[in-house]
Amino acid sequence: MEGQLTIEEESTIMMDMNMMNSIVINEEDQDCVVGAGLDYLSLNKLLSETGGTLNFPLDPGPGATIGGMASCSCSGSTAVKYGTFKENVLRFVLKEVRKNLSNFLFF
Ligand SMILES: Cc1cc2nc3c(=O)[nH]c(=O)nc-3n(C[C@H](O)[C@H](O)[C@H](O)COP(=O)(O)OP(=O)(O)OC[C@H]3O[C@@H](n4cnc5c(N)ncnc54)[C@H](O)[C@@H]3O)c2cc1C
Repeated sequence: MEGQLTIEEESTIMMDMNMMNSIVINEEDQDCVVGAGLDYLSLNKLLSETGGTLNFPLDPGPGATIGGMASCSCSGSTAVKYGTFKENVLRFVLKEVRKNLSNFLFF
């Protein structure tokens, strides 16, 4: 793991984001809305199936997810031409669960 596993207290939990892999492609707007668990290789495969020119140009380690790439603002060999992660994202929706963990787990 890029950020390594950090256990701060005994009650620390790990979250599997695999199922947060939704994707909505807006070809007219030339953008898409994706879940944090989607990996960029799958994203590019789905984008290529639209037959258009949409492409997510970053290429860090294979299998990297949107959430993981965001957390380290990844780059890759194409960054000189297309920029790093932050230049390729228009908007984020962040969900803070740390302070309301009991709400998050039980509601
Ligand atoms: C072979 C290889 C080549 C690489 N080349 C490059 C390169 O050229 N340029 C570059 O910039 N990077 C490179 N990387 C690093 C790469 O950018 C990161 O490993 C990758 O982006 C992390 O994504 P991940 O999904 O694997 O995240 P993880 O390793 O699973 O997590 C990374 C961090 O993000 C946190 N995190 C993950 N998901 C979320 C979420 N949904 N919400 C909040 N926090 C989250 C984790 O807790 C952890 O702290 C390379 C890595 C490898 C293995």
